[in-house]
Amino acid sequence: MAYQSVNPNDGKVLKTFEHLSSAQLEQALATAQTCFQAWKRTSYAERAAVLDKAAQLLREQVDGFARLATLEMGKRIAEARGEVKFSADILAYYAKNAEAFLAPVKLAPKVGAAHMESSPFGVLFCVEPWNFPYYQLARVAGPQLMAGNVLVVKHAGCVPQCAIAFEKLLRDAGAPEGAYTNLLISHEQSDKVVDDPRIKGVALTGSVAAGRSIAARAGRNLKKSSMELGGSDAFIVFEDADLDQTIPWAVWGRMYNGGQTCCAAKRFIVLDAIADEFIARFTSALQAQTVGDPMDDKTTHGPLSTEAALVQLLAQVDAAVTHGARLLLGGKRIARAGSFMETTILTDIAPANPAFRAEFFGPVVSFFRVKDEAAAIALANDSDFGLGGSVWTQDLERAQRVASAVDTGMMFINNIDWTDAELPFGGIKDSGYGRELGDMGIQEFVNKKMVRSAPLDAPA
Ligand code: NAP
Repeated sequence: MAYQSVNPNDGKVLKTFEHLSSAQLEQALATAQTCFQAWKRTSYAERAAVLDKAAQLLREQVDGFARLATLEMGKRIAEARGEVKFSADILAYYAKNAEAFLAPVKLAPKVGAAHMESSPFGVLFCVEPWNFPYYQLARVAGPQLMAGNVLVVKHAGCVPQCAIAFEKLLRDAGAPEGAYTNLLISHEQSDKVVDDPRIKGVALTGSVAAGRSIAARAGRNLKKSSMELGGSDAFIVFEDADLDQTIPWAVWGRMYNGGQTCCAAKRFIVLDAIADEFIARFTSALQAQTVGDPMDDKTTHGPLSTEAALVQLLAQVDAAVTHGARLLLGGKRIARAGSFMETTILTDIAPANPAFRAEFFGPVVSFFRVKDEAAAIALANDSDFGLGGSVWTQDLERAQRVASAVDTGMMFINNIDWTDAELPFGGIKDSGYGRELGDMGIQEFVNKKMVRSAPLDAPA
């Protein structure tokens, strides 16, 4: 299907774009390859000038970029503004720190001297999701351009205008042609891109299904890949949690970005002793949301990204109920134009219920009661995913113990302030492998070369 921009607030088609022809795709790859030969020789200062300028332009045009995201995928406008500013922070962070992150590291061999040095791989293929239409791009563009790689990027089918705007941003900031190229391509064309010998690494953020497909393809080609996939994060509440703090975080953790965040709080695991109070207060806080146009600052509950996303979520909730889950709240589409889902709470989700292992990408709470700490950890770990999770208690020793015992790539104690430019982001199990952001994010696609000099006689 061609790329289509549809406003999920009212279902109106905004713009449609055709896929690139084979000749256009070939041209894009050839230009990227040519660009890499020059870009890898530029200094960190030259690269940083481009990224700093892009950050500045983003900050100057926050509203324009934000409105486009809200129009194309329904993100609430205040959240969209925050995403644009944060994307600028990420670009500026790597402009400032890349050289230090990639500086040669001295080793200590028994004889002679040795060091590790870092050099870029080449052209990288990045496949990105719609839920953070700029942040996801900044997460790869910032580190990888600073490392000296160049990028060809396939963004999601529903956000072509954001994809084009980000490419233009980098060109406006002075990036040479081919340093960052947006590709409007199909899945079949994506496979060909992965196979192309000019592509030296593949980074995907998206669903498990997309990850399996692209990672398998990259593996067949012996190309390094990083996979940032789905999640079903546990939000573990102990009996001594401060509910005045915990409930607002719970609402934010589930409802931010329309509930469409990989590391959103999705499974609420609450100790019996506090479960009744927690669910009563959580339910009334969720009911206090204001449904409306995401362009309106007063709205706290906007639409899902697309009609297809809504239909899929409704079907998942129906299947959960058919298999024995109890619906405590919501469960239906909201009777108004656009793709809106009621805030929904499911309880009594047995392990055999498909909902037990699923990722609900929208405003759907899965609520579980457990008897003690061990049961909470066991339930948190009984998941195919391993992205993030959080623990809520005033006993910080206990919080630390639980954070260490949960099998995920990220854990949060009494907060779910998920992402900062300087903190590595990523998961394990079906949530993927590799890390983005922080120092680790820039190390994913650089050659770590060991160089040794030693005054050794040749073996006889
Ligand atoms: P999706 O369908 O996998 O789409 C993500 C991207 O992958 C899109 O660009 C999509 O293109 C592309 N894609 C899908 N299948 C492909 C294939 N076979 N070949 C090539 N490209 C393919 O994911 P989604 O459902 O839209 O996004 C939500 C998912 O992303 C959730 O599971 C969420 O948890 C995850 N996510 C993870 C992170 C993280 O950092 N771990 C961050 C954000 C989101 P089309 O749109 O053209 O299909």
